[in-house]
Amino acid sequence: MSQKIRTAIEPTREENYAEWYQQVIKAADLAENSDVRGCMVIKPWGYAIWENIQRILDGMFRETGHKNAYFPIFIPKSYFEKEAEHVEGFAKECAIVTHSRLEDDGKGGLKVAGELTEPYIVRPTSETIIGESFSRWVNSYRDLPLLINQWANIVRWELRTRLFLRTAEFLWQEGHTVHETYEDAMDETMKMLDVYAEFAEKYLAIPVIKGEKTEGERFPGAVATYCIEAMMQDRKALQSGTSHFLGQNFAKSSNIKFQNRAGEVQYAYTTSWGVSTRLIGALIMTHSDDNGLVLPPKVAPSHAVIIPIYKNEEERENIMTFVKEIQHALKAISFDGNPIRLEIDDRDMTSSEKGWYWIKKGIPIRMEIGPRDLQNRSVFMGRRDKDAKDKQTLNFEQVITSLAAILEDIQDNIYHKAVELRKTYTQNIDSKEDFYKFFTPKNAEQPEIHAGFANSHWCEDTACEETIKNDLKVTIRCIPINAEPEEGKCICCGKESKRRVIFAKSY
Ligand SMILES: [Zn+2]
Repeated sequence: MSQKIRTAIEPTREENYAEWYQQVIKAADLAENSDVRGCMVIKPWGYAIWENIQRILDGMFRETGHKNAYFPIFIPKSYFEKEAEHVEGFAKECAIVTHSRLEDDGKGGLKVAGELTEPYIVRPTSETIIGESFSRWVNSYRDLPLLINQWANIVRWELRTRLFLRTAEFLWQEGHTVHETYEDAMDETMKMLDVYAEFAEKYLAIPVIKGEKTEGERFPGAVATYCIEAMMQDRKALQSGTSHFLGQNFAKSSNIKFQNRAGEVQYAYTTSWGVSTRLIGALIMTHSDDNGLVLPPKVAPSHAVIIPIYKNEEERENIMTFVKEIQHALKAISFDGNPIRLEIDDRDMTSSEKGWYWIKKGIPIRMEIGPRDLQNRSVFMGRRDKDAKDKQTLNFEQVITSLAAILEDIQDNIYHKAVELRKTYTQNIDSKEDFYKFFTPKNAEQPEIHAGFANSHWCEDTACEETIKNDLKVTIRCIPINAEPEEGKCICCGKESKRRVIFAKSY
């Protein structure tokens, strides 16, 4: 009988991936469910990841000419009704404010009162209310392009929710821009898709595929939706960001008109694009292992922890003096343009307990300092991307001179692991039989981790997309932007196809 290796997280990914995900979040203390159904409480360690994501993305948005603004959380129902497809797409998941106050019900409780003449929708996305402002801000071609971003919370009344991946309320940013021409708006759409892809790969260490959504998966009201798709460790796809080319649809419904260079009044072209706290879910599922969270150093709340190990007060004093010396020297060191973010864990716990505490929280580097390390002016260092027992001794000078490079190495290492995983589980599949076999779990009751991305031909007919979705719960994740044209036969109906698309199960 083989003995099971004990892991810090139970169950393991292989045993029950969905439950493993919840346990990783719990062990890292990232977030918890609240009494408000589907709404999460983001705890400090989780929120700090979001703040790093915000800070970096915000810099990238400014770099590309965007400015931040803020618009109301409530959208009058009449605004919402203006764009027919948009209403249809979001109608089933809206939170609606219908009353304005509470009154004594005479039984010791409260009753709702003050019915509003027009209900407000709690924003599920802000195209319609921002469009209303834009219609007043844009009058001439000289006002364009108008490049605005908003950091906000939104509400989509989801029935089946999961921390970070799908919650009724979530945090996000939504970019909204207005342009003179079709080409300008399309350039913007693609530019922001590139910004998202760069951010995901460089900072979150998540390899992504840039592509276009099929008509059936498009944002309601958009002319075209582009996305970045990533493969999680259970080989399902996670849509991690979207950029929408809205053409003149929303300009027409919101009346965004301007006088063009020829002196004529015309409708503008708009775009919108967003990423959300879902990125934290993507990060957890891409990198974490059976011992808990693994964080890309560039967005980790802290880069390293020092764990002093001592038996008495005298040892403690001497070791803490050395710890402070390291802390001071590291103040002059930066990683990715920011000072090293350091934790010192001097709590009254065993060093092993502390070690595992930080492993589960995903901190990239752990440095233990005991009496013997102090004598040698060295630390015993463990990396989160390596086995928990795989540690090495570094002397004081090495810590100071190599810490940033080690963080960079961890960042690269976890990125390449993710690239390898995607490579291993992506296949070109050309026969319908193989395709169905690829996506059918052996045990339907408790589907094991299997399948991945299938690169297969599609005839561009929505009916084939629907058939595959109904049969296998598999969807076309995207039509990759840089896919080479290739003649082939649709995986579903066998008709002519011009290129391969990516099929996968998804979150
Ligand atoms: Zn077909």
